[in-house]
Amino acid sequence: MPAKVGIDNTIREICVDPQPNGLRAVYLVETRSSEEEQEVENIFSALESQLEVRQLTKGKLVSFVVQAHESDAEIIDEIEDVLKKSYVFVVTQRSFDELICRIINELSRQTDSKVLPIPKCNICGKIEPFPSTVVNLSGEDGSVLVSRNYCACCTAEACAPNNKDFIKSLLAADKRNFGKIERAQLVRHRSRKQPLRYLVSLI
Ligand SMILES: [Zn+2]
Repeated sequence: MPAKVGIDNTIREICVDPQPNGLRAVYLVETRSSEEEQEVENIFSALESQLEVRQLTKGKLVSFVVQAHESDAEIIDEIEDVLKKSYVFVVTQRSFDELICRIINELSRQTDSKVLPIPKCNICGKIEPFPSTVVNLSGEDGSVLVSRNYCACCTAEACAPNNKDFIKSLLAADKRNFGKIERAQLVRHRSRKQPLRYLVSLI
C-alpha cells in the first residue's frame, strides 16, 4: 500500500504545469565508438532549445525521443536525414509506444547499452516521456517535496469545470493516496512565471 504522505501539514503549495502535446519521434542509432556516441548526444542536446528531448539509452545504442510542435513537423525529417548521412544503423519511429520500448530494451541488452529511466503516468502507469501535466507539491520553504506526472489520457479524463477541481481530480485519481485532497482548500496565488499556483489549507 502506498504511504499516506500527500496532503498533510507539510504541503503549502501546489503548482500545475500543463505541457503542450506535439508530434513525437524516436531515433535509434548504433554507434561504433565513444566519439560517435558523444557526437549523437551533441546533435540532440543542440536541439533542446527548439523541441523537447529525452535520452532513452546510452552506450553503443544511443536513442532519443523528441516532441515537436505540430508546426515544426519538418524538423523530425531533418533529424533523420542528418543521422542517416553519418551513421550506418539508424531507426526512426514517428510515435512513442510500448512496442518501441520493448525493441529498445532488447537492442540495449544485445549491445550492452544502458537504458535510462523514463517517467510514468502516476495514474495509469503508462510510460510517458513527456507528461501532459506535471503537478508539484511544495513545502513551507518553496522546495518541491513531491512531483507527479500525468499522461494526456488521464489529464483529459480529469477534465473539471475549473482548475481547482481539475487538480483535485488528478490527485484523487493518483496511485499514491493523497488522502485529504478532497478536503483541502486551494487558494489561487497569482504569479507570472507559474500561472496555475495554489496555496493549500486543510479544512
Ligand atoms: Zn495516464
